Amino acid sequence: MSAIEIQNRLPVASPAEVRRALMRLFAADKGRAVQILVLYVLAAALSVAVPVLLGHVVDGIRAGWTVGRINLVCGLIVVCVAVQFVLSRLGRRAGYRFGERAAARLREGVVGRVLGLPLDRVEQAGRGDLGTRTASDVNTVADLLRYSGPTIATAFIEVIALYVATFAVDPLLGLCSLLTLPLLLLTARRYLRRAGEMFRGERAAMSEAAETLTASGTGARTVAALALQQERRSMGYRRAETMYEWFMRVLGLQNEFFLALLWLNRIQLVLVIAAAGWWALQGGMSLGTAVAAITLTVRIANPTNTVMAQLNGFQQGTAALARIEGVNRVATARREAVPNGTEVRLDAVTFGYDGGPDVLHGLNLHPAPGERLAVVGPSGAGKSTIARLLAGIDRPRTGSATFGGVPVCDIGVEELRRHVVLVTQEHYVFAATLRDNLMLAAPEAGDALLEAALRRVDAEWALTEGLDTMLGDEHRRLSTAEAQQIALARVVVADPDVVILDEATAGIDPARAGKVESALAAALEGRTVITIAHQLQAARSADRIAVVEAGRIAEEGTHEDLLAANGVYAGLWRAWQGNRARHFAG
Ligand code: ADP
Repeated sequence: MSAIEIQNRLPVASPAEVRRALMRLFAADKGRAVQILVLYVLAAALSVAVPVLLGHVVDGIRAGWTVGRINLVCGLIVVCVAVQFVLSRLGRRAGYRFGERAAARLREGVVGRVLGLPLDRVEQAGRGDLGTRTASDVNTVADLLRYSGPTIATAFIEVIALYVATFAVDPLLGLCSLLTLPLLLLTARRYLRRAGEMFRGERAAMSEAAETLTASGTGARTVAALALQQERRSMGYRRAETMYEWFMRVLGLQNEFFLALLWLNRIQLVLVIAAAGWWALQGGMSLGTAVAAITLTVRIANPTNTVMAQLNGFQQGTAALARIEGVNRVATARREAVPNGTEVRLDAVTFGYDGGPDVLHGLNLHPAPGERLAVVGPSGAGKSTIARLLAGIDRPRTGSATFGGVPVCDIGVEELRRHVVLVTQEHYVFAATLRDNLMLAAPEAGDALLEAALRRVDAEWALTEGLDTMLGDEHRRLSTAEAQQIALARVVVADPDVVILDEATAGIDPARAGKVESALAAALEGRTVITIAHQLQAARSADRIAVVEAGRIAEEGTHEDLLAANGVYAGLWRAWQGNRARHFAG
């Protein structure tokens, strides 16, 4: 991976930031969190009450309690067990619900934040990274909040209650039960360190194996044509073997860990039994106290193992939360500038991509409001870059790109899109009705307006099929030209002050593109239209043409002016005419 790729990745939050994020999630539903905590604590208190009462019964029998009294305490034990069962069920259910709500808030927050990211950062981060953070990372944290979180919390509180109760019954036995704790913590730490690496390896091996399988399947024809079956098969076997090895390693590690836990539990129990037995025999403590302490220690194993078994989910969840919270770290400067006027302009702009060399060098471009300006020039001259700066996707290194007198990048995204719209070849048709796809541009637009817009872009097919037509790959699949018409119709519906068209009609066949362009120009009468013209034909009808060469404006003027000047444009025009003549002759 190159340094630039790493630098472009979205950041990851620090452990302190993750802790704060968790606290925020709890604070947002504080009342419920406190209720749940109370339920967990009550359930844990009842769970430790049972062994303590049992100890009393033992001592009571030795002290010659009446049967009635013994029955009463035994009855109390049964009530404790029943209430504890109900409370822990209620607590667990409330915990899951709490987690579900927190997960929903998290999901909404991430989507909101990603949508608020500067567009250049979204492009740099790439689909993979953003996709992982908004989909699988959110799911992992949601699992933590819904399942591992409440399970760990209940078990953890129970463990604490059991240790506290053992201390309360007899401080020395409490100390004995704590002797194995440092070993337990060390084992858990060692396991977590190794498990993180192993799970990553296992996941990578699994996705490699899946990738090989899918590639062989989808490329079956190529595999057959080039007689690659044997090679693909052995590659599949190799990948499957690697995956198996990782599975075995993970299983081995888990086995080792849980075996260690089992032994630690046993050692703890043996220590407490031996100490309690010895003291009881010495007469240092009552038999009931010994029974209570031993029963409490027996109970510690179960919730301890539950906490340990969930540690992985906890670790993965917090790692995923760190990636999600990392999105917060991206500087999203407040965009609150309010434009005053409709003039868009570039003044002495320099710009380069990702720390690379400048591709625009002190460029000035001043389209007058309502003007139709064509920007032409050789490939790589910087035309699309100009479009991006005018639309506020990128910020100039020096100089300024302004709309209505304020930097384009400082205007709130929603506000900016009402005034300045960029249409490129990359447009997106959403899986929704044609109406919904158009109304994205103006949520209040009525059908008549939408249909008029479709007419403007020559989309007869859309008018025939109707606004209720469901679009998208699963429904009505659009050709490139049709999708482009939808994107252009959106612009007509949005009716902004400035429209920047960058190869916006490239997917439409040339004969038709001319018609679409002139209809569009009529629809956008009075608006500033900046056309990045790769076909010089489109430039000819513009009010003014700006010729870009190597990141600078080389010439400006009308088609006639520029031909008369016999400069760069005249050269491009002659070359283009020549090409066309050859094309038609051919
Ligand atoms: P045009 O639209 O005139 O063909 P561009 O504005 O696309 O030119 O490109 C201008 C220069 O910027 C070219 O040298 C191109 O290689 C470079 N460039 C364009 N896009 C990127 C990018 N995303 N990352 C790095 N360099 C880029």
